[in-house]
Amino acid sequence: MSVFTNSYIPVNKYTRPGLKLQGVKKCVLHYTANPGAGADNHRRYFSNAQVYASAHIFVDKTEAICIIPLNEVAYHANDIQQRDSAGNPYRGVAALKPNANFLSIGVEMCLEKDGSFHSDTVERTEDVFVELCNKFGLDPIDDIVRHYDITHKNCPAPWVSNSQKFVDFKNRVKAKMSGKSVSKASPTKPTTSSSSSSSTASGSLKSKVNGLRFYSKPSWEDKDVVGTVNKGIGFPTVVEKVKVGSAYQYKVKNSKGATYYITASDKYVDVTGSVKTSSSAPKTTSTSSSSSSIKSVGKIKIVGVSSAAIVMDKPDRNSSKNIGTVKLGSTISISGSVKGKNNSKGYWEVIYNGKRGYISGQFGSKI
Ligand SMILES: [Zn+2]
Repeated sequence: MSVFTNSYIPVNKYTRPGLKLQGVKKCVLHYTANPGAGADNHRRYFSNAQVYASAHIFVDKTEAICIIPLNEVAYHANDIQQRDSAGNPYRGVAALKPNANFLSIGVEMCLEKDGSFHSDTVERTEDVFVELCNKFGLDPIDDIVRHYDITHKNCPAPWVSNSQKFVDFKNRVKAKMSGKSVSKASPTKPTTSSSSSSSTASGSLKSKVNGLRFYSKPSWEDKDVVGTVNKGIGFPTVVEKVKVGSAYQYKVKNSKGATYYITASDKYVDVTGSVKTSSSAPKTTSTSSSSSSIKSVGKIKIVGVSSAAIVMDKPDRNSSKNIGTVKLGSTISISGSVKGKNNSKGYWEVIYNGKRGYISGQFGSKI
């Protein structure tokens, strides 16, 4: 299944000239320079914009949309930013001469409102490039280039000012193509965590092995696996130890506060700091609020995402917080659906760890 959805804009002289590509020598990374606007915002914009500009694929934190067929030209990488002493435009990638737009695919990363790349946007963009490199027989290290590399345009600006991030990105694409799992969990900080231990549980966790699975809820089942962490990688916060079946798991949080579960066996993980053991059974009842159990009206299956759908705290994908993820192909109970904001497909109201959450409509199929 493709990482991106095809939703082509109409052929028009400005944004989709309908010309055939002469080949795909490179894939070009861009950023939209347009904070807060997602992939679908750009699809709609380019469907009737009267500017000679576009790109093939737009990626945001919830989806990737291909707006121009991959055998057609998009105007994304042949602009003139600099000229040499003879008056010729700067062209830094020889393989794309004389016109990069006829020889490459353009991929745009969307920006959050604060101008940053969401980690899910970066991860999804990696998956897009994995698919493109496989499709066109390209090597991510040599054949993913920045717009900057071709014309010296400051694009994608955050990875022009910090080229190492672009190198790291290509390496992750390469690793994914070779079948290694790549963790986006943030590494733990050096463990001199202040000795002033608060009364609540505190600790951080590191995996001792590669490919250690973590789960969306207290469970050992395959269907609840969210991802894996490699040796030395882990979670900055360990909340507590809970009994799951006959063994224990740590309830952990990532740097964004999303909760997961991972084995508590010291064979596999190192924990620093103090961690309390939950006295109660591992039923995830919410701590403070009254235990209003939300009534389920059915279930959805997660579809159309590369690895997992994001669960949001409110039905607005532009301003919500992520409270967790649900893996592709797994099911989750719903209490209804709502129109919400910023998504023409609306939102499923899901029951996530006993609490209400929201998943974009296009990523759930009623079962
Ligand atoms: Zn660009």
